[in-house]
Amino acid sequence: MASKKVYLDHAATTPLDERVLESMLPYFHREFGNPSSIHSWGQNAEAAVERARATLAEVLGAAPDEIVLTSCGTESDNLALRGVARAERQRRGAQHLLTTPVEHPAVLRTAQQLAELEGFELELLPVDEYGRVDPEALEQRLRPNTALVSAIYANNEIGSINAIADLARICRSRGVPLHTDAVQAASQLEMRVADLGVDLLSIGAHKFYGPKGIGALYVRQGTPIAPIQTGGGQENGLRAGTLNVPLIVGMAEALRQTAERRPETNAHFERLRDRIIETVLRHVPEARLTGHPTLRLPNHASFVFRSVDGNALLAALDQAGFACSSGSACKAGHPEPSEVLTALGIPPSWALGSLRVTVGRSTTDEDIDAFLEALPAIVPRLREAGRHAA
Ligand SMILES: *Cc1c(COP(=O)(O)O)cnc(C)c1O
Repeated sequence: MASKKVYLDHAATTPLDERVLESMLPYFHREFGNPSSIHSWGQNAEAAVERARATLAEVLGAAPDEIVLTSCGTESDNLALRGVARAERQRRGAQHLLTTPVEHPAVLRTAQQLAELEGFELELLPVDEYGRVDPEALEQRLRPNTALVSAIYANNEIGSINAIADLARICRSRGVPLHTDAVQAASQLEMRVADLGVDLLSIGAHKFYGPKGIGALYVRQGTPIAPIQTGGGQENGLRAGTLNVPLIVGMAEALRQTAERRPETNAHFERLRDRIIETVLRHVPEARLTGHPTLRLPNHASFVFRSVDGNALLAALDQAGFACSSGSACKAGHPEPSEVLTALGIPPSWALGSLRVTVGRSTTDEDIDAFLEALPAIVPRLREAGRHAA
């Protein structure tokens, strides 16, 4: 039994960094102005927002007016899909949407609703056994009336990284905008939009040690996009609503630090991740890695175990002091196999026993020693209990 609680669910959310918290505090009380106001309170708040926007733009290699501040990664995905789909239909009659079956629900459900309620034609790109899109498959499916392509940068559930720059080159040559959901990628991967070649990119601060309830959407200059939240003219008319100054300041500080510390944190993550993958595959019978073996997030290990109840596994691990996940946190409590794992062709008898282990800045070798001691004992015990229950 572990004496200390060990958090291994950094893909679900990360703790707020201490310095990020400090950067936010003045804007909760002393500097409370509305950035839209003309007076000095407003000007101080506006200056803080514009400093934050400049920092975000610098890390992404974008212009400040290409950054739209939103309330979370989910909203950024919604704005990208709905906003571009509607604008492209209005502009050139484009009705066809292309995305992948392994997107976060923020993308997939939005695309499905655009099809169901607004008559867009939704097509899902095939993915390989690791959940990656083949650029050739994209090339074949792009049409003159494709309004938007959306492909996840790094998968939250299985960690696989898409070849976004290759997908972007194809979209660019055909004049179709490409959005990428980089919410999970932002804490670890290259984020410069010129290198990625994307037209739209979503981030959410709580996945990179920033506060919850704040996100951003990069929108390349000239990309057709209509607002989905209308009102006052904030964010160049693209996202109405009084700006959440402290959270915006915190998001910028968090992204700045993340980019600065990336080489060092990634080396730490990879070492721990590789220990987890090697040991689990060696010491747990009937275990498989999900997602790509090498083209995966540095902090991300994910598995399926045959004939194990994934929720029972999470409960047993929690009792032993380890917080993990079975995939996307939004799906916890549902007994159906994950749609992402099903899209990879993993049969339900395996997919129901999924486990995601994601390490963070403060995860230590001792934490991983304890975890790798506990897990190989828990899995056979649950299999045995499942056999008796059946
Ligand atoms: C967490 C996550 C989201 C949702 O972001 P929120 O800021 O929590 O709304 C979207 N996409 C991916 C890939 C994620 O990991």
